Amino acid sequence: MRDFQGERDRMVDRQIASRGIHDPQLLAALREVPRERFLADDLAAYAYSDSALPIEAGQTISQPYIVALMIAEAGLGPRSRVLEVGAGSGYAAAVMSRIAEHVFALERLPVLAALAEARMAELGYTNVTVRTGDGTLGWPEEAPFDAILVAASGRAIPEPLKQQLRIGARLVIPLGHHDEIQTLVRVTRTGADSYSVGELCAVRFVPLVGA
Ligand code: SAH
Repeated sequence: MRDFQGERDRMVDRQIASRGIHDPQLLAALREVPRERFLADDLAAYAYSDSALPIEAGQTISQPYIVALMIAEAGLGPRSRVLEVGAGSGYAAAVMSRIAEHVFALERLPVLAALAEARMAELGYTNVTVRTGDGTLGWPEEAPFDAILVAASGRAIPEPLKQQLRIGARLVIPLGHHDEIQTLVRVTRTGADSYSVGELCAVRFVPLVGA
């Protein structure tokens, strides 16, 4: 039996805290969520490697540090209602569910949404709702959100997502063409029609496919 808890603790120390992320709630969430359960059995051994990994349907689970950075930059708290676009394996949504009040996770591919939903049920993460759908349209029935994370790269920020941010809330999204290096961007809604944008770092994500 592998010592996944030991691997998880080392991941947090060496990949996350050592790179400047110190939010205690976030680090506790990363120590808690079993990343190996979000991978196919033959990849579980690599769950705590410092890299993105393949998941079903030709998609990827993001590198742990990038998951942590996006969550840190989104500014989640215990009362936050969070939208994730691109649930993929469900790992990032699961981590956020340990910090926030509720996570609404959209995934374009039904097979991935079904797997993610099953994992939440197995782990007892009842404050995550996974739905199949085009995340570029957001989730109007549940808006406004206190934070929005987009885990796939687009050329521009989808307008519905900007509209579904609560004033003061943040959206974190990789922007750029999917064949190239993209830039992770943090958008803060500063007023009804005003946003401020900050660039975080270079990243590489699968494409955001949708309207
Ligand atoms: N956060 C995920 C990363 C998944 S990769 C994890 O922790 O595993 C990004 C995902 O975005 C892929 O599964 C892809 O199918 C999905 N995706 C791409 N475009 C989308 C869209 N318009 N709406 C919803 N999901 C989308």
